[in-house]
Amino acid sequence: MACLPILTWPDERLTQTCPLVTEITDDIRQLASDMLETMYAAPGRGLAAPQVGVLKRVFVMDTDWKDGPRNPITMINPVIEWASDETTIAPEGCLSIPGIQIEVKRAAEIRMRWIDETGEKHRETLTGFAAICAQHELDHLDGLITLDHVGPAERAALEARYAEARA
Ligand code: ZN
Repeated sequence: MACLPILTWPDERLTQTCPLVTEITDDIRQLASDMLETMYAAPGRGLAAPQVGVLKRVFVMDTDWKDGPRNPITMINPVIEWASDETTIAPEGCLSIPGIQIEVKRAAEIRMRWIDETGEKHRETLTGFAAICAQHELDHLDGLITLDHVGPAERAALEARYAEARA
């Protein structure tokens, strides 16, 4: 297990569309394990492979551990099969945009399928914070960040605040 450095925006690896994982190898299992360790240490509730510089469709999340026992989930090649028309808006932080919270509109409920690190297929309906977190992490696999969800004026203000905080 190893803690990996987390890339911060505007690293261009955060803006790439990641290709599918074609085979679940020991390298992928190690990546998932290292990403979970990195996420817990951050501390965060979700982390996508491009955030540690690996352009593959893999993310990890655990939306329970801050309030109870750990419940780590590794999603490989995740797909949203269905999303509710009902939406929800909540402030989202991102380990790659430290110090900035952005209100993002998301589907309130989604049905996802994915493969886990053992190769097992899953299909589950997610609601609440888990649905928000999964959509946020899936965005990363398509090179999107929370800033891509706001209009140009709000984005400019947020980018200025981010630049100031990092100066
Ligand atoms: Zn993020």
